[in-house]
This record gives sequence, C-alpha cells and structure tokens, in this order.
Amino acid sequence: MEAPKARYWEPEADGAVRCTLCPHRCRIVPGKRGTCRLRENVSGELVAAAYGRTIALNLDPVEKKPLYHFYPGWTILSVGPNGCNLGCRFCQNYASSQLEAPTSHVSPEELARMADRPGCRGVAFTYTEPLVWFEYVMDAARACKARCLSTVCVSNAYLEPEPFDELLGVIDAFNFDLKSMDPAFYREQCGGELEPVLGIIERAMGSPAHVEVTNLVIPGQNDSPELLQKLARWIAERNPRTPLHFSRYHPAWKFNAPPTPESTLQRAWKIAKEAGLQYVYLGNVSVESRYADTCCPKCGAVLVRRSGYRVEVAALSGERCAACGADADFVNL
Ligand code: SF4
Repeated sequence: MEAPKARYWEPEADGAVRCTLCPHRCRIVPGKRGTCRLRENVSGELVAAAYGRTIALNLDPVEKKPLYHFYPGWTILSVGPNGCNLGCRFCQNYASSQLEAPTSHVSPEELARMADRPGCRGVAFTYTEPLVWFEYVMDAARACKARCLSTVCVSNAYLEPEPFDELLGVIDAFNFDLKSMDPAFYREQCGGELEPVLGIIERAMGSPAHVEVTNLVIPGQNDSPELLQKLARWIAERNPRTPLHFSRYHPAWKFNAPPTPESTLQRAWKIAKEAGLQYVYLGNVSVESRYADTCCPKCGAVLVRRSGYRVEVAALSGERCAACGADADFVNL
C-alpha cells in the first residue's frame, strides 16, 4: 500500500519540508525522514511513511498499559509504530523505538474488526510513540468509534497542541509518561523539552478524556524526594484524583545503572500520597497489595485487587463503590 500524504507540514526552499506535528519541527530534505523515523520527504511532500505498519499486534490486559481506572479486567488490542520522537537513553523498549524492527501492515478497518470481539474493549496505540503515528491513529480510532470500541494512547505527550486537540476528539484514555520535572533531564537524557509535555498533559486533563500518568523512577537520575514531590504536586494541583503509576526501571539501551530498589519506589509512593494524590500505584515490581489495589476514596473498601496482571473486580458497581456508592473515578460503563 502506498503511504498517504502526511498532515501538519509546510514546504520550504529546495524541496525541503518543515514538519509541524511535534515540538521538534524537523526540517526534512528530499529522501530523508524526521527524528521520529515515521515521516519522510518524498519529492518535496511529507508522507506518513509508517502508516498502518505495526511492530506488534497483541491482546494485552488494560492494566498492562498501565491503565488501572479504565475498564479493569478487560483486554485491549495493542499496536505501535517502529519509531519515536524522543531518544530516551534509558528506553525500556529501545529495540522497537530506536532501532529498525520488523513491522506488518494492518489497515484501520482491519484493526477495528480484529478488536471487535468478546472481552476486548478496543484498541491501544502504545509500545513506542503513537502520537507521531498521527494519520494512522486518527483513521484507526475513527474506525474503532464506528464499532463503539474504546481507544487508548500510551504516550510521551510530545506533540503540538493543534494536532493533539484533533486526537482528543477520538481517543478515550491516555497514559502519559512524565519522565521528570527537571528540564535538563528531558534535554540531556531524552532529547526533548519538558514544557511542551506539561502543556499536553494539562490539555488532556482539562478534556473529557480519562488520564493516568506514569513516572519511570531511575536511580540517581529522577528519584530525589524534591523531584518526586514536585511531580506529584504538579498533578495533584490539577486533579488529585488522577492515577499516578511509579514504574521500576531496569538497565536498558545506554543506561547500565542497577534496577530501582523497591525501597525507592515505596518512598515515591509515600511522597505522592502526602502530596494529596488519591490513587498511587507501583509497577514492574512484586509489591504488597496496598501498592497495587484500588480502594474506595470514601469508605476504604477494596474495589479492585491486583497481583501482576491478574485483576479481581471486588466491589465495583459500574464506576462506583459497591459498598458505599461513592464515585471511584473509573471509566467502566
Ligand atoms: S513528528 Fe517526527 S518528523 Fe515531525 S517534527 Fe516530530 S520528530 Fe520531526
């Protein structure tokens, strides 16, 4: 299939183009691709070169995204492109995001049809960076909506506001990776800027979309109590009922520091709770239930029990606590 023309770009002198989809605003000369490796200048026009080409097609638990307050216990068909617009030196999925990896083609309609099965809630655009897979995500999400399926993006939030507003019209839930509150960390370790990331997360939090946030805690890089507190407070000031996941780092790509100690993650959990966040979880780690379960914010009843990706919906009635009827901040109708 011929790749379609991309959206969000402008022509420049000598056949070059300026991509305006994400804050990098790459200038791309004919025959070359932008930083994300998904968009190519073909004879003076920007083309969505990775349209429909996915590195994986897996039926995953929704919890694995991670989304803990969005249809608990369901599965979701998960796809992602072979590229990313950030270059995190610690990327936990670098083989697919930073290196060439095999892909297969699936059309938007085919994807939606495959997701339309019992027990599957819809489609998750995930694994690498779906926001810069923009044209395909828009088309596939619309195909999902036509079948009343849910749509999810797991993302680094590195996009320009205008295209992001278009995505808000077709995506039901986001998990955003907020890597640090230190601008130098974003610049030096990720090859991006912090401010645009905060802008997009804030935009999503002010929309009807469901939002959860993940922070990968890396020893000696972003795990100081001050930075963790700043991150938790930033979220709490906007919406203290936003679920926050602290995820355990393992050595990968250009980083060889040892994995995050469990004690650091437990400290992060405590800091975030003290900052006022209602729902804080620890991921990639075998932990006590209080770090993984969801409890009712009013009466304390255990609503959802989790062990690894095993999920038991214990006392949830739709989106409310089955014991006292309080709103438990779920999307589950
Ligand atoms: S979306 Fe890709 S090509 Fe466009 S500006 Fe961002 S990194 Fe560059």
